[in-house]
Amino acid sequence: MKVLTTISEVRSACAAARASGKRVGFVPTMGALHEGHLSLVRTARSESDFIVASIFVNPTQFGPNEDLAKYPRPFERDRELLEIEKVDLLFAPTVEEMYPPGATTFVHVEGMSEKLCGKSRPGHFRGVTTIVSKLFNIVDPDRAYFGQKDAAQAGIIKKMVRDLAYRTQVVVCPIVREPDGLAMSSRNVYLNAEEWKQALALSRALQGVRSAFDNGERGPSILRSAAETVFAGIPQVKLEYVEIVNPDTLDPVCDLSEGALVAVAAKIGGTRLIDNIVLPATK
Ligand code: AMP
Repeated sequence: MKVLTTISEVRSACAAARASGKRVGFVPTMGALHEGHLSLVRTARSESDFIVASIFVNPTQFGPNEDLAKYPRPFERDRELLEIEKVDLLFAPTVEEMYPPGATTFVHVEGMSEKLCGKSRPGHFRGVTTIVSKLFNIVDPDRAYFGQKDAAQAGIIKKMVRDLAYRTQVVVCPIVREPDGLAMSSRNVYLNAEEWKQALALSRALQGVRSAFDNGERGPSILRSAAETVFAGIPQVKLEYVEIVNPDTLDPVCDLSEGALVAVAAKIGGTRLIDNIVLPATK
């Protein structure tokens, strides 16, 4: 596996791979890799020929009081994991490489970036779409792999790809969970044993919604209250939102017949976690 840190080297390596007829598959990450990330790499490996992963803790997607400074950065371990997965190229740029002094251009998907996590994290999705757009310009992947774990992010990136005519196909891979149901996240390392148990409220709340749905409940507000009831029993967990939305627009849905995304965000101590499920179409 080549480890490269500059835009020009990555651009040349990807262009050479494409010129030799290889399909380029790309997995952007912020590192602190877990099985969720590795599942994206494995899917990429199974359907692309030249696999590029990136590790970049992107400052523009963090708010001023968020965890940018303490975000875990176990680079050597990440490098080894990607090597084992037979990644061809790891791009690990510095902040200065990605944001040269004076950079003032951003990509903002209007109408979606303000929704779900965008409400409490203003600027977050703008930071995500800016960095992903820049990475796409450098790697120019045939396919790019994202996790359903960040469902709003996946929807916003798909919209960006359509709106800006990127040639890249966005592939969204299922959520990988811990055996107890907690969605894997690089931020789970912040949780102590007690908080970990409390954090199970997110997946339990979503299971509550799913079982109400399976029992025939179709009212979004009743389904939402099935989730809220779970949080009401655990006051240490601060529910930020539970929303039932169209995954392509992130707008709330009233009619569930075409399926819907149920997304939840909550804080356990200082750790903010998200999770979601998809309710299937019923018509
Ligand atoms: P991050 O490093 O958190 O920016 O995540 C990089 C990519 O991995 C994103 O596309 C995430 O949606 C995806 N990802 C993170 N956690 C999971 C998970 N538990 N299951 C599947 N994909 C995930």
